[in-house]
Amino acid sequence: MASIFTKIINGEIPCYKVAEDADYFAFLDINPNAKGHTLVVPKKEVDKIFDLDKDTYTGLLEFSRKVAIAIEKTVPCLRVGMSVIGLEVPHVHVHLIPLNSMADIDFKHKVNLSKEEFESTARTIAANL
Ligand code: AMP
Repeated sequence: MASIFTKIINGEIPCYKVAEDADYFAFLDINPNAKGHTLVVPKKEVDKIFDLDKDTYTGLLEFSRKVAIAIEKTVPCLRVGMSVIGLEVPHVHVHLIPLNSMADIDFKHKVNLSKEEFESTARTIAANL
């Protein structure tokens, strides 16, 4: 069965899209640690990051770098942190999280954003790419 992220990539489930190319897709995390928290996903559905083939792995990091630079231009933060967990969704994804303190990388630390805030954040990150 297709993962929830494959369904997002295929447009079967809505998301706040940030970026896309032939191989990768980026969208806002729906339950963010901080405003601007973004997930970057390879379109190829693989569970664990270190099982990716080398080209997809390095391409994922390069695509994530571009998105992270755009996030940093969009959301006031000290830096953008990167984390890979995958315990909830078995489809490789890189978390890019604007950090102002250590609390922001703690996955128990969540912020509530309105639909309008999600939309404007995704739009601005995309414009800053
Ligand atoms: P993990 O697999 O532990 O790295 O966590 C999966 C992440 O995906 C969590 O931060 C969720 O909030 C996020 N997530 C799950 N479903 C969606 C969705 N439909 N849209 C955006 N983010 C999601």
